[in-house]
Amino acid sequence: MMFFIIIFTQMILPVLFVIWFHVSEFKGRANFILQFLCTATFIGYTWVVGAQSWSSILIGFVIVLAFVLSVSTKIRRLPKKWGFRIESGWKDITFVITQSLILILFLPIVLFGLMGYSIDGSSDKSAIDLNFPLDQGVYIVGHGGSNPLINYHNVHDIQTYALDISKLNFLGIRALGIYPSELDKYAIFGDNLYSPCDGKILKVDKGYEDLEPPKRGEGHPAGNHVVVQCEDAEITLAHMKENSIVVDTLDTVEVGDLLGKVGNSGNTTEPHLHIHAAKDGKGIPVTFNNRFLVRNSIVWK
Ligand SMILES: [Zn+2]
Repeated sequence: MMFFIIIFTQMILPVLFVIWFHVSEFKGRANFILQFLCTATFIGYTWVVGAQSWSSILIGFVIVLAFVLSVSTKIRRLPKKWGFRIESGWKDITFVITQSLILILFLPIVLFGLMGYSIDGSSDKSAIDLNFPLDQGVYIVGHGGSNPLINYHNVHDIQTYALDISKLNFLGIRALGIYPSELDKYAIFGDNLYSPCDGKILKVDKGYEDLEPPKRGEGHPAGNHVVVQCEDAEITLAHMKENSIVVDTLDTVEVGDLLGKVGNSGNTTEPHLHIHAAKDGKGIPVTFNNRFLVRNSIVWK
């Protein structure tokens, strides 16, 4: 059910909006501006709040490209008149009302989501910069950012700026299939996980099995995990693969040293990397190579 809602909002609706924009004949510039804003806002919603890794980021790019091309042809044939032109009566009035409602509904959601792109929006600005811990493909952030609309961790004290990271396959999706139970259908499963800093291993917890989605290990939320001391922060890397952890407590590590592999242990919906930083029991923002990653951010390695 959730999948169909995602496909509908991420693919079908934006495609229909672009087609609607393209076939519209604008009688006044205000009509053009309203429909442009309505279409751009809805496409923006699929990128800021939506989950591109579920519906294929490649299709996401095609939709943006189609809209840009359509705008560039329409803008050359704009009418001279600025105001709203409502000539065919109720049909035009219905369009204007529908587009205004879409804008009123979605624009605040997109703007609120965009506020989560900034670390400065938070009270604690002492971010730690880390090295991205994966290096075998194209990774995408599922949850990340500084507000709960784009990062569900945000409401948990220690995980305020936690990130959930998936990997994209050749189709631009995080898994082969809708929500497969086979772990190796998830692009990220089994990828090497490296130390994000020069530091020390503070904790290793292992011995948990990798669960087949949608099974979740609720008794031990982090599953197999490692805590690395980076400067004065503690970095937790969770849901690692069973029997993959190659470091021990009190080991010294250098940036890029292998820690283990990405798995699906603990309380997790599917294979992914969960990573967060904490200082004195409070979550602090993380940047990777000076980038603050948010939902749908891409890291190409
Ligand atoms: Zn998480």
